Amino acid sequence: MTAPVPDHPVGDAFATVAGHPDVVDQLRAAAGRPVHAYLLVGPDGAGAAGAARAFAAALLCRDGGCGHCRDCRLALAGDHPDALTFAPEGAFLRMSDAEEIARAAARSPLEGDRKVLILTDFHRVQRVGPALLKTIEEPPDTTVFVVVADSIPPELVTIASRCVRVELAPVPEAELVELLVAGGADPGDSQVAAQAAGGSVERARLLVGDTGLAGRREAWARAPERLDGSGAAACGVAAELLGLVEAAAEPLRRAHAEEEAALQERAEATGERGGGRAQLEASQRRALRRHRSEELRFGLATLAGRYRDQLATAGPELAALLGALDAINAAAAALVRNPNETLLLQALLVRLPPLPERQPPGFLGRSVPQGAGSDQNG
Ligand SMILES: [Zn+2]
Repeated sequence: MTAPVPDHPVGDAFATVAGHPDVVDQLRAAAGRPVHAYLLVGPDGAGAAGAARAFAAALLCRDGGCGHCRDCRLALAGDHPDALTFAPEGAFLRMSDAEEIARAAARSPLEGDRKVLILTDFHRVQRVGPALLKTIEEPPDTTVFVVVADSIPPELVTIASRCVRVELAPVPEAELVELLVAGGADPGDSQVAAQAAGGSVERARLLVGDTGLAGRREAWARAPERLDGSGAAACGVAAELLGLVEAAAEPLRRAHAEEEAALQERAEATGERGGGRAQLEASQRRALRRHRSEELRFGLATLAGRYRDQLATAGPELAALLGALDAINAAAAALVRNPNETLLLQALLVRLPPLPERQPPGFLGRSVPQGAGSDQNG
């Protein structure tokens, strides 16, 4: 299904949804005659949350998402009275959240003839799923659900079957570089940021201005050199790495402060006050949580890369290296279930085999051309 491309950019509300032209086409076409529920599925930060806001704008705007009318502006800012966002406050959705969603779905729109309920982080729906099924599959005609999830765990399968599904794939590295360079970033910085972004446009944009990235990668890559199988070494390294993860959120916190200032300015200029602040705070908390898990995943991928580099020259230690890679993969998978990160990392590091200090490329007699080694931190 491909939507006709309009001569003039009617769908400007989608301008912020980068790297997913097919998704934009699909949502733009759907906004004209929406069904009761959509499910946007994509890994952390692939842009599903932004796509959901743009879609809400297109659903509420008279012109299908012009991007500049009042409806568009408020919906894009997450501040429209008829575009409500719900997210699990804690690790999982509670029954009280489900009740609130059901009540909101039943209420009439406040301003226009349609309301949009955006349900984010719905992979964390857990046992509340069945309680919401009826609400999502048969809302009032005026309500459109936009469900957003990183993935579809078993608890979400039934709800997913009642929604039109829209998939957001991770954005390929080359496209991320293109987007960053088009935005005015240095090509070299863009390459480094794209490599560490895990297919996420948001994360790539954040990393391209992040001067601490190279240092963090180096710290994760060198972690195995500091391990000795003891709990003390593992705890020390884990604490240091988690400190870096925490500090890495600084650019995001600065961006959040700017968002708050912009919201304040808008409230003063228009005299509008609503759930805007609470919604912004909730979405910022989610962004910080997502940033944290993306940073950890990036760190674990860097760590895995270090062990993988050893495979080619491995002798009897091959089994230990493969075991290390399995353990790192398992830890990365466990992050999705929102465990205690400190314990997770300590438990991982204590069982990883120490590695010798990394030597310059070519040192081990491998045929690595000068300057083309794996060390790209410079
Ligand atoms: Zn508009």
